[in-house]
Amino acid sequence: MTERKITEELLAAEKKNLEKVNHELDQFVHIASHDLRAPLRAIGSFAGILQKDCQDKLDPDSVDSLNQIVTGTQRMTELIDDLLTLSRISKVTNPFEPVNLRELINSVKKRLQSDIEKSRTVLTVHEPLPTVQCDRIKMPEVFMNLINNAVKYSSKKSGDQPRVDVGISERDGLYEFFVKDNGIGIDPEDHQQIFDMFKRLHSKDEYEGTGAGLYIVKTIIEEHNGRVWVESRLGQGSTFYFTIPKNLKS
Ligand code: ADP
Repeated sequence: MTERKITEELLAAEKKNLEKVNHELDQFVHIASHDLRAPLRAIGSFAGILQKDCQDKLDPDSVDSLNQIVTGTQRMTELIDDLLTLSRISKVTNPFEPVNLRELINSVKKRLQSDIEKSRTVLTVHEPLPTVQCDRIKMPEVFMNLINNAVKYSSKKSGDQPRVDVGISERDGLYEFFVKDNGIGIDPEDHQQIFDMFKRLHSKDEYEGTGAGLYIVKTIIEEHNGRVWVESRLGQGSTFYFTIPKNLKS
């Protein structure tokens, strides 16, 4: 009995310690990201001024270097934005409350409108869309990332017009959502690792992005006691699925 008590106390102390380290790490990421933004903005805007004013005074190599500074600062700004999103997601917990999915998906569609139009994607949202218990601040990020990817990774595939379908089915006390595209697809060997933080299968030159999107999706879905996975083959489109339990309680 005493031995069991000692082990329990040790475990509780270790848990407390880990929570403290986790919190400090989170604070560090948050503060460092904020502090990095200001000097980065300065580098970006001065390099931008030089780009505009000195193009004709510089030799081609210097123009190239300057272009790389501007691209590099833009890329770093995107990474910092993603780090801030990740830190916000892990730090803040919002209550689960009834959220009208039709309204949620409509607002995501609006945010993606220009990319959808540019890529001539046919986006079909399948009715009915119920009202579900979830985090109303974080759940839009899930749809945003999945639909954005579906549009992005279908946009350059030659042949078919890009098509994206979004829908939901209900079973065994769960809601199961899908976001399906007819894009470039993913090799089954890579299905696991694409959900890792900053993992990408493509270079920045091929497709814009930082590799944080699916990690954010996975973190949010796991907070909802759900699961996310993909079914896909190279060249044959992808379907991302995720579940959340019905009647989630905060
Ligand atoms: P990002 O899109 O910024 O690279 P994500 O974390 O959203 O980052 O996705 C990780 C990787 O998974 C992507 O780089 C891409 O290779 C692959 N991926 C994600 N969604 C799709 C999709 N719908 N079709 C094909 N590949 C995808």
